[in-house]
Amino acid sequence: MLVAGNWKMFKGPEEADAFCRSLREAELPADVDVVVCPPYVSLPSAVQVLAGTEVGVFAQNCHWDAEGAFTGEISAPMLLELGVYGTIVGHSERRQLFGDTDETVARRACAALDAGLHVIACVGETEAERDAGETEAVLRRQVSVLEHDDNLVVAYEPVWAIGTGRTATPEMAQEAHEIVKSVLDVPLLYGGSVKPDNARELLAQPAVDGALVGGASLDLSSFEAICRAGSLS
Ligand code: PEP
Repeated sequence: MLVAGNWKMFKGPEEADAFCRSLREAELPADVDVVVCPPYVSLPSAVQVLAGTEVGVFAQNCHWDAEGAFTGEISAPMLLELGVYGTIVGHSERRQLFGDTDETVARRACAALDAGLHVIACVGETEAERDAGETEAVLRRQVSVLEHDDNLVVAYEPVWAIGTGRTATPEMAQEAHEIVKSVLDVPLLYGGSVKPDNARELLAQPAVDGALVGGASLDLSSFEAICRAGSLS
């Protein structure tokens, strides 16, 4: 079971430092792998404060080249130099707002894995795609560009459920996860408005191996509660 908190563009270095100090003292369940994904500028604080703990620090994105003329991008070797353990790639906000495609997501994932980072690759359909009955085709297309790797985890995040307060029902999550797993057999997280009060039911689904949590990961008590909900589910 893995619970990852995607902080998005929240918590600068000072706030990250304070949050991670509290997280270090929290009683996290031993059977849940816990990850935080701060913004780039807060990665050094998080890595430093969480050093020697079981909590992993991931970035939110990673370029496919090691270096080059790519203004605003960060590479896998740079993340490794900081002591970062892994990275998210292909979050729907990157796909929708910053032009990531299945191809660039695959390149990012592949480069990060080759460099030795762990990867959480995000997939998921939009509301229009679900309404048009295209969920399965979209998931198959998005997942088929990824290659199996022991350090790869996929996150199923229906776009209509991210930051909206609308959550896939546990049955919808299970159904989508079965589709993803039929294409690529890797651990699979559910993401999309996971909160302390819905986490247990979602995480209890047999094909759900964890959660990628946005908004609710910014508050320590709700993040802890979701981590606890993952314990023994
Ligand atoms: C996310 O950003 O990956 C996410 C799932 O956000 P939220 O939990 O806020 O819907």
